[in-house]
Amino acid sequence: MAKSPDLHTHSTASDGTLTPEQLVQRAAAAEVPMLALTDHDTLAGLAEAQRAATAAGLTLIPGVEISVTWNHQTIHILGLGVDPQNPTLNTGLADLRAFRQWRAQEIGRRLDKAGYAQAYEGAKALSNGTLIGRTHFARFLVTRGAAEDVRGIFKRFLVKGKPGHVRGQWAELGAAVSWIRAAGGQAVIAHPARYGLTRTKLLRLIGEFKAAGGSGLEVVSGSHSRDEYFVFARHAREQGLLASAGSDFHGPEQPWIELGRLPALPEGCIPIWSDWLQASTLPTEAAA
Ligand code: AMP
Ligand code: MN
Ligand code: MN
Ligand code: MN
Repeated sequence: MAKSPDLHTHSTASDGTLTPEQLVQRAAAAEVPMLALTDHDTLAGLAEAQRAATAAGLTLIPGVEISVTWNHQTIHILGLGVDPQNPTLNTGLADLRAFRQWRAQEIGRRLDKAGYAQAYEGAKALSNGTLIGRTHFARFLVTRGAAEDVRGIFKRFLVKGKPGHVRGQWAELGAAVSWIRAAGGQAVIAHPARYGLTRTKLLRLIGEFKAAGGSGLEVVSGSHSRDEYFVFARHAREQGLLASAGSDFHGPEQPWIELGRLPALPEGCIPIWSDWLQASTLPTEAAA
């Protein structure tokens, strides 16, 4: 059976550990037919990924994963098929990266007080130098022996109520969706099971997302259980959203999430990619 597209992955342009070229080559080797690079709040990896995809004969969907603050919590919205040159999207993301930079320094100050000196410098050295995320702090603190693994560091230091936590002040939901649409892309709610929302809140999120012009729900995700695929497949059907699938691969250090292993979408979902091939031929036909 044909493999599933993978529409959610990260590179060293944000908190992944493979360069965009290495990521694309690994996806091609794993016979992923269509790959979206969706780094956090940046489009910086897309040009390199596109060159590698052309060389490898793989279809690359230019994407992004936008950090959003909705109802006092952080939600991730994927933009798929965006124009990397679009000024509206680039300006919006630049503001988020400015917050990220301030936050990184603030996390560093807080960890310093908690007894971990030079954490900002340490995290920065593990990043590409321009986009520093909590994952870089987590990897740094693992090298300091503060916990056994990244997961343990998040739990002890980087989540609400812990010494290195800084409250997110990300994009508004409607703004993120509008930037994506301005850039010609489609907006997808990433890993919806991860937010711990009640059914009422989830339906409110979906309602506001659709009203803003959002179109998809990530049904199959590396961070969803099998049961959750079916729960969110049903939400997608009932709420009239297209279904997406993505590993959320960040690198080979997470052996439980590998490229090329995504299961098919549950029956009855409309895949977000179902009309992409057709759509991409339309402008050519119109021009002819
Ligand atoms: P940031 O956008 O910098 O706040 O970091 C969010 C990223 O941290 C996510 O995309 C994941 O890669 C990672 N992350 C969040 N929570 C955890 C966790 N509990 N364990 C491991 N990684 C996590
Ligand atoms: Mn991440
Ligand atoms: Mn995410
Ligand atoms: Mn992600």
